[in-house]
Amino acid sequence: MIIASIPGERFTFHVKGDSLRCSNPMCSHEVKRRMFETECPKCGEGILEPVSYEVQLDAFDGNGECDCDHFQMHLKPLLNQGHKGTTLRCKHISRLVDEIIREWVRNAKNEA
Ligand SMILES: [Zn+2]
Ligand SMILES: [Zn+2]
Repeated sequence: MIIASIPGERFTFHVKGDSLRCSNPMCSHEVKRRMFETECPKCGEGILEPVSYEVQLDAFDGNGECDCDHFQMHLKPLLNQGHKGTTLRCKHISRLVDEIIREWVRNAKNEA
């Protein structure tokens, strides 16, 4: 499961990204490669952990808003100008939407 929702905040989700970041706030070394959680090669103190992004799915009339750099720098300005379309979702929002649909189908099948 890649998604953790926050209790009481129905439209807020945490989605894991592809990169890992050092848990040491003084270091914050980031690696793009997918690897096991391991000691940070840069500072040797922190642990490399998956970066997670916060998605507000109700933002922009259901398009969603993500706090990743790509969304904030490139997609949000277009949405603010009134543009619409699925290309205005970053991969984290797309992944979340995909996962929600799969879960909805699974639940609906269980009820039948
Ligand atoms: Zn580090
Ligand atoms: Zn994102």
